[in-house]
Amino acid sequence: MKKQIFVTRSSMPALDEYIAEIKDIWNSHWLTNMGAKHQELQEQLVAYLNVPYIELLTNGHMALELSLQAFGFNKGEVITTPFTFASTTHAIVRNGLTPVFCDIDPATFTMDIEHIEKLVTDKTVAIVPVHVYGNICDIEEIERIAKKYGLKVIYDAAHAFGETYKGRGIGSFGDVSCFSFHATKVFNTIEGGAAAYENQDFGVKLYRLKNFGIRDSETVDGVGANAKMNEFCAAMGICNLKNVDNEIKKRKSVAERYRMYLGDVEGIRLNVVQKNIKSNYAYFPVLFDEKIFGSSRNEVMVKLAENGIFTRKYFYPLTNTFDCFHGQFDVGETPAALRISKRILTLPMYADLEMEDVDRICKIILECKI
Ligand SMILES: *Cc1c(COP(=O)(O)O)cnc(C)c1O
Repeated sequence: MKKQIFVTRSSMPALDEYIAEIKDIWNSHWLTNMGAKHQELQEQLVAYLNVPYIELLTNGHMALELSLQAFGFNKGEVITTPFTFASTTHAIVRNGLTPVFCDIDPATFTMDIEHIEKLVTDKTVAIVPVHVYGNICDIEEIERIAKKYGLKVIYDAAHAFGETYKGRGIGSFGDVSCFSFHATKVFNTIEGGAAAYENQDFGVKLYRLKNFGIRDSETVDGVGANAKMNEFCAAMGICNLKNVDNEIKKRKSVAERYRMYLGDVEGIRLNVVQKNIKSNYAYFPVLFDEKIFGSSRNEVMVKLAENGIFTRKYFYPLTNTFDCFHGQFDVGETPAALRISKRILTLPMYADLEMEDVDRICKIILECKI
């Protein structure tokens, strides 16, 4: 049987390294509830991400959901993108807020700043943009709009781990930036996430929301959840963080190899290379224009799968077309996102993807060209 290649492969430290890291836990018997590993990872990530503060959480979704909750909006509209993972939209809806979908910029796939301002109403409370694929949103324009209308900005930075914009940590923009440390992301803690922020009052609220709303041993004054990162996940993070720069470097080589084969092919468009950004090469999305290329996105996907290569249609379907929202949103309001979601395919991308495998993937794709 041919070797199978999946869209991603989780980063793991050497087993010995992880065992050495978790040994302390056998001494302390402290498994969760903000133990030593939690503390250590938190400090390391503040430095690595170059942000004022972070709160570690069970996953990126809870970072988004609890961050929105911490602002205490009890109702209102949130301007966001439908071209994202389910989590972004669900975090808004699960807070009792109404997502208002903004179309995307066809070049970067992030929220189109031409549209944001037109969507602001007297009910708007926040903007939740996504640095999709690690492509950075138009931060300055979003900041301008947020200031003008008094809106909070909660970035979904699930794809943007370790990136910088004009030399500043990407998590230092907006009111909060939410990272995901899920197994499939550039940096993982098995499951995990973090919210980066500057305002300490917000930090206190978020901390309580991740710990049942407990203020102290006899006072519970918030209706919190349980979203504490445990010590084993934090230990995984400490190990993976040591290697992440090296992994990003390897991802870069994979991206360059893909570009060498696919960069000048008619009917294929690759992700933009943005100025002023240190990229993490989180994903490798490719857009197929069937009329020019000769094969559709779906046909290419099937062909690759027949060869044991498993790609993903990130992000199809758009979140504003999900069955759970049936009849609530008009996808006609986000035509660029709809068009792109039908043509985009994310190719395998991870640090240990071998160059021969990239060569083989590209060869199969090029064979689909008619
Ligand atoms: C992965 C992801 C999330 C959720 O993160 P989890 O850690 O899996 O909960 C949120 N938004 C986007 C865009 C993601 O890709």
